[in-house]
Amino acid sequence: MNIRAQIATVFHLDKCIGCHTCSIACKNLWTDRKGAEYMWWNNVETKPGTGYPTRWEDQEQYRGGWERVGSQLRLKMGGRGGTLGKIFHNPSLPTMDDYYEPFTFKYDDLTNAPAGDDQPTARPVSMVSGKPMKIEAGPNWDDDLSGSTVYAANDPGVVQLSEEEQQQLFAIEKMVFFHLPRICNHCLNAGCVAACPSGAIYKRGEDGIVLVDQDKCRGWRMCVSGCPYKKTYYGWSTGKSEKCILCYPRQEAGEAPACFHSCVGRIRYLGVLLYDADRIEATAMQEDGELAAAQREMILDPFDPQVQREAARCGIAEEVLAAAQASPVYKFVKQWGIALPLHPEFRTLPMLFYVPPLLPVLSVESQGTQKLADDFFTTLERARLPIRYLAGLFAGGNEEEVKAVYRRLIAVRIQRRQQGVGDQSEAEAARAREIAGLSAEQVEAIYRMTALTSIKERIVIPPMLRDRAVEAGTDPEAYRQEMGFGRRQAPKRRW
Ligand code: SF4
Ligand code: SF4
Repeated sequence: MNIRAQIATVFHLDKCIGCHTCSIACKNLWTDRKGAEYMWWNNVETKPGTGYPTRWEDQEQYRGGWERVGSQLRLKMGGRGGTLGKIFHNPSLPTMDDYYEPFTFKYDDLTNAPAGDDQPTARPVSMVSGKPMKIEAGPNWDDDLSGSTVYAANDPGVVQLSEEEQQQLFAIEKMVFFHLPRICNHCLNAGCVAACPSGAIYKRGEDGIVLVDQDKCRGWRMCVSGCPYKKTYYGWSTGKSEKCILCYPRQEAGEAPACFHSCVGRIRYLGVLLYDADRIEATAMQEDGELAAAQREMILDPFDPQVQREAARCGIAEEVLAAAQASPVYKFVKQWGIALPLHPEFRTLPMLFYVPPLLPVLSVESQGTQKLADDFFTTLERARLPIRYLAGLFAGGNEEEVKAVYRRLIAVRIQRRQQGVGDQSEAEAARAREIAGLSAEQVEAIYRMTALTSIKERIVIPPMLRDRAVEAGTDPEAYRQEMGFGRRQAPKRRW
């Protein structure tokens, strides 16, 4: 075993209210400057919807991530010969229109308007040209239900649904949406790292955070192409690429990343995962529908004495092991099995996991009032969001993965209804737990972690231990052939 530690995260989607506080916290801290106007290292999109940049999930258009070619894993953007010709014109790159033209308003016209009978207005102006412009797109232009039939209908996941499922999704009074906050996934098999011809992107040794060395970056933008989540951005002012740094300076001071700290819905969890780096390639080679399970499988149990011995042999400090044991991410992903990676079929092994939104699938209308459905698991088959759509987002199309998560979330709801409202019997709660494969204690623990935790339980940052972290104190250039904790061998670069 080659045990490595990774800072990983969970977003609980049933708790996200779409307030964008996270996006603004990040913007104010990191991208409120020239050349970064259009960048949202943290963005929140409405699903179903086309997202930011528009239709980013469509890899036939953007060619991000990895694909299997025979027994090999290759970047979808192409081999060395194919991409050399794209250095000066890369048709797979998102354009400014795909993101949106950043804008501000002439607030001065509003606040300093002379007294008069007419209502003063603040006209929008482009932050690129400074000229007046008509706003036609934004970082969450699909917001809530506005424009669903235009935007949601063009969601790459919706396009794959049957005509009947699409009709059901967009039927008046049945329209449904949820929010999907996105940051860099700090992947184990990062497409951006492997795509960079300058070796400027690296996965830092001590915690697996993926960073761009600004001195080494030559602005080729191959990382923008290589990332299937479109979470690296080109700064037109500096001529360098940049991306979410998971607020590593804050973490080094023991503080949660800004988007985590400010999250109004408290949907965000952060903690250490231990994994076997020798299994990265074999895991990424699995069938689409097997990837979520395979990724879960490569995460190691920090309570297992054999794992502990191997971790010590691999240089994982006792303090980091203790942080891994307290990690809420380990609980969500491995112990409870209720958090799944976003688009695992891109094969970058993302380290941000999502609890899929259950939404109010449990209620039925009865004599004008909403009440709990009699058979929850039949209701699940008739979920407001088709399971197939969610399986396409979180499980490489494997519907059983999403159903298994839903059964557990439903068991939590039934047990809580039984205890708090009293309209469910203990026998029904026991039956739900049995179907979900959870004990009453586990259900209680999920409920507490979801609803009642303090920030100390939600965000468990390992100590930095700079005095012992050899790679942390070393010039990343010396490790450019490695992928930090994720790799001891050189990644397969195209150059
Ligand atoms: S999500 Fe982040 S780590 Fe993963 S490929 Fe994209 S930029 Fe790289
Ligand atoms: S701050 Fe939290 S609740 Fe608000 S949009 Fe961001 S992730 Fe969702």
